[in-house]
Amino acid sequence: MAKMRIDKLLSNIGIGTRKEVKKFIKEGLVLVNGNTVKDAGLIVDTEFDEILFDGEKINYKEFIYIMMNKPKGVISATYDPIEKTVIDLLPQELKARNPFPAGRLDKDTEGLLFITNDGNLAHKLLSPKKNVIKKYYAEILGFVNERDIKAFKEGIVLEDGYKTLPADLEILLSSEVSKVYVYIREGKYHQIKRMFESVGKKVVYLKRLAMGSLTLDENLKPGQWRELSEEELSLLK
Ligand code: URA
Repeated sequence: MAKMRIDKLLSNIGIGTRKEVKKFIKEGLVLVNGNTVKDAGLIVDTEFDEILFDGEKINYKEFIYIMMNKPKGVISATYDPIEKTVIDLLPQELKARNPFPAGRLDKDTEGLLFITNDGNLAHKLLSPKKNVIKKYYAEILGFVNERDIKAFKEGIVLEDGYKTLPADLEILLSSEVSKVYVYIREGKYHQIKRMFESVGKKVVYLKRLAMGSLTLDENLKPGQWRELSEEELSLLK
């Protein structure tokens, strides 16, 4: 969608509300291809038209693609009347683009969250048919062992009778608090916690490290985010 109203475009990128943008247009602050815009409803081509606001060139990208290191204590939703959401951690100009988290992490889970407003790409990543592998680091109460590896590989029957797809478990440390990597290809509610419950163990820490080709940037501290690089994006598409 390369064509849109100039007032919508400017408010989408956080210049102001539609009303404020109309005022800016009246004040002559907006130029398209060198001409002062008179009509807030002017249709512009976001790829080809040169748009200036207050003398500054506007570089409008239709979609935004963000990786966040989700911290504990915030929920993976766009809005909640009580809880803080991952979208609340973004600045206003990005919030104005209506991003949403593609996939969910529990409130107490940390790690990679992909946030975008590109519904098609989100769908592609989340579609069960695509079998996108999600990698997690987990700490587990109890000694994780070879039997657990075998059970995960064969598929675990959860308490509601659902049998999970084959998953891989890699033991980093088998101890009273074990450390493991878990690789799953679906995203059922509380999946990893429920899988461990089924083998009599409890997850005490969970962090997502990767979704398909997208790997969490370890420089991002919990709560921090950055836009995807062109290369990361091209691997996802
Ligand atoms: N599995 C869980 O149990 N929780 C998450 O947040 C993600 C996967």
